[in-house]
Amino acid sequence: MNNNKRIAIVGAGVAGIALAILATKQGYQVSLYERDSKVSSIGAGVTLWPNAIFVLQQMGLEKEITRFGGRPSYMRQFDQNGIRQGEFDIEDVNTLSGFPSITILRCDLMNILAKALYVLGVDIHFNCSMTAEDIDGLKQEFSLVVGADGRMNSVVRQTLYAEMAQPCYQGFINIIGISQLKVDALDNAIHDFRGPGERFGIVPVNAGLCYWAGGWSTAIDKERPLSTWFDEMHQRFINWPDPVQSTLRSYEKSSLSRIFVHDLDPLPYWHQDNVLIIGDAAHAPLPTSGQGACQALEDSWHLAQLLQEKSGLDDVLTEFYLQRIVKTSAAQTAGRQLAQKVFGDNSEHQPSVSDISAEQLSQFWMQGLEMKYT
Ligand SMILES: Cc1cc2nc3c(=O)[nH]c(=O)nc-3n(C[C@H](O)[C@H](O)[C@H](O)COP(=O)(O)OP(=O)(O)OC[C@H]3O[C@@H](n4cnc5c(N)ncnc54)[C@H](O)[C@@H]3O)c2cc1C
Repeated sequence: MNNNKRIAIVGAGVAGIALAILATKQGYQVSLYERDSKVSSIGAGVTLWPNAIFVLQQMGLEKEITRFGGRPSYMRQFDQNGIRQGEFDIEDVNTLSGFPSITILRCDLMNILAKALYVLGVDIHFNCSMTAEDIDGLKQEFSLVVGADGRMNSVVRQTLYAEMAQPCYQGFINIIGISQLKVDALDNAIHDFRGPGERFGIVPVNAGLCYWAGGWSTAIDKERPLSTWFDEMHQRFINWPDPVQSTLRSYEKSSLSRIFVHDLDPLPYWHQDNVLIIGDAAHAPLPTSGQGACQALEDSWHLAQLLQEKSGLDDVLTEFYLQRIVKTSAAQTAGRQLAQKVFGDNSEHQPSVSDISAEQLSQFWMQGLEMKYT
């Protein structure tokens, strides 16, 4: 797919910028459109598991990500009284996968990606909120139009599916934020506290800086003032053990966000003609999968690899779907299964992280990431 080398990408999130970098390096002329006035840093942080670090290494960004990020050794699970329910050794899965797991603030991840694109001489077209008509125009002008415009209101997904394929609310809310704790408060472990229908997760980044999410099952209510959700979070979790209490005492107010957590059902196709969706626009999983950004990065890498092939565009896009649908659907399912256990009706009995097999997890994450084309 090399004769007409012009790609339009809608959405400068993780998937859009990563694809722009990889495709530019392959000689494509990329135009990237973003509705906001700058690269978004909404969302507190992400854990980049070894599959994501594989892709970032291919992009030459692993060192920079490591410099800003943290390298947690354990995931520890507790009940709401602070009694440990299990522990998972993250180093085991890192060793099996051949890549580290890195935690990073979203603003740092996005800045690293944006800078790498800038260095390649590609400017992001900001303040371009693309409409369905715009997509029609791009279809004529570019050989490929990629919708990387996220889970909730993807315009490009709408051009493929009209009103079908809407995101599904999964019955729980997350309040996310960033806190500064004492340097060794988290003992370099991701902390996962669970009570019936409630969860508080804290992820160390570095030097006591951490990001976190408090979640509970609730009906969706967009009219209710934000401050009352934040108050409710305090009421629900303030008697939970440290480090939950110290996290809630020390967050940056501006880092707080409320998210009614939605995902997508797996979709039967991701492209029509020369229009394709990737990342959350195509297969948004719940945050309980821990894989949304990781799969968005994988999409970009796989697509860039396939674009190097000599086949026609339709074959490339069909092959892309076939390569990606099983893994991304599995991440969607895993996210829903865990959310159901944490926030569903029978949430008294929690599965333990000690029961996770590092071998199975590593096999799943690294599946499909072989160097086939370069
Ligand atoms: C609370 C929470 C915690 C998470 N934790 C993790 C984690 O630990 N690990 C992990 O891997 N993932 C995690 N995720 C998931 C991850 O954040 C997403 O899966 C990831 O950001 C998807 O990237 P994307 O590029 O597809 O979409 P996005 O990052 O949403 O980017 C879409 C971009 O498109 C732009 N856009 C939208 N519409 C238009 C338009 N019409 N015109 C132009 N631009 C447009 C948006 O402004 C945005 O910049 C988490 C998600 C949540 C909610």
